Amino acid sequence: MINIVILGGGFAGVRAGLTFKKNIISHNIRVTIIDRNSFHTFTPSLYEVATAEESSRNVRIPYKYIFKKPLEFVEGNVEKIDTAAQKILLDKNRTYQYDYLIFALGSESADFGIQGIKEYGIPLKTLGDALRIKNALKNAKKVIIGGGGFSGTEIACELVVRKPHLNIILIQGSDVLLKELRNEISKLAKKRLEEGNVYLILGERIKTVTKETVILDGGKAFSYDAFIWTGGVKSNKLMGDIRVDDSLRVKGQQNIFAAGDAISPGIAPKAEEMGEIAAENILRTIRKKSLMVYVYHGMGRIVPLGGHFVTFSMGKFYISGIFAYALQQLIYLRYLLTILPFFQAIKKFIKFEKDLARS
Ligand SMILES: Cc1cc2nc3c(=O)[nH]c(=O)nc-3n(C[C@H](O)[C@H](O)[C@H](O)COP(=O)(O)OP(=O)(O)OC[C@H]3O[C@@H](n4cnc5c(N)ncnc54)[C@H](O)[C@@H]3O)c2cc1C
Repeated sequence: MINIVILGGGFAGVRAGLTFKKNIISHNIRVTIIDRNSFHTFTPSLYEVATAEESSRNVRIPYKYIFKKPLEFVEGNVEKIDTAAQKILLDKNRTYQYDYLIFALGSESADFGIQGIKEYGIPLKTLGDALRIKNALKNAKKVIIGGGGFSGTEIACELVVRKPHLNIILIQGSDVLLKELRNEISKLAKKRLEEGNVYLILGERIKTVTKETVILDGGKAFSYDAFIWTGGVKSNKLMGDIRVDDSLRVKGQQNIFAAGDAISPGIAPKAEEMGEIAAENILRTIRKKSLMVYVYHGMGRIVPLGGHFVTFSMGKFYISGIFAYALQQLIYLRYLLTILPFFQAIKKFIKFEKDLARS
């Protein structure tokens, strides 16, 4: 029996698992997916859970609906990977042996050594984080968001629409919001936030965070009731700093491939593509075929800027407003259809829409 283990049921791990399901013809191969949660998290909608009232169940997609036989799912926290013994150590002293491994444990919030971020900042990486933010916002009047990248800008824009009574400060280290995107979208986000009375601090860095105050490098201090930290992420370090070759094989490890944010934090479609290639290349290794090369195809990026106002950009092309919102919904539906049985996908999609409209 050949044991293949996938660590992480995020976008990369789910796609890897489903690729195996589609391509395995031999009964000699067992594929096990391990994740600390019993559900897959649809991260692009986490900001809605943090700011809206009822949608938390919609970003959770139980693995039992995604991974059907012959795939096996194990819920557990990965604590150690012993590459010499080809063993995974989980919580409660459980161990799993592997012949081939896909390392897809994603990324985590990075504090860049800034004092107080870990203690007082609430990140937005998991469903648990989103619920913590929602809770912290209940009695808050003053909210500070550290980081004006995708998550920080999205959540600030959504708060303007859903909680207009809040006094919001957004601090961004560089001079522009959403600096990875084209200038028009950065400007649009800035305009929407300024119109929503968000106090923008651009080009200044956070030096320290205390229980009640955020202090900038220049010495200015701002008090807060809730501090949301979206200033950076780093790859999961359970295997140390990994490098992969162009087939996504981890350098120095013949039987370990990696995919998604665990290699370098990026976007969901990229993680999916990598998950598929990693799975395909394990099957090719077993079948002694030449490996596929992973090539990054630039993909479009959807950025919601509050309510139903969304932008979509791809290279020089971009649209914004309700058409981009419709596109966002189509992309979500398409994703559900690729991982769930048809009726379940439709049910999930309709519920999601209904809950958001109500909240
Ligand atoms: C708030 C937010 C919004 C985003 N919005 C978008 C967007 O709009 N569009 C887009 O394309 N991308 C978006 N992204 C980025 C996208 O979510 C990531 O690029 C994508 O999730 C990467 O997939 P992955 O499989 O590598 O990692 P993940 O999806 O993070 O999956 C990692 C999995 O590993 C599990 N795990 C981690 N550590 C352990 C452990 N020790 N033991 C067991 N299990 C573990 C986790 O539970 C998780 O299921 C967003 C990310 C965030 C945080």
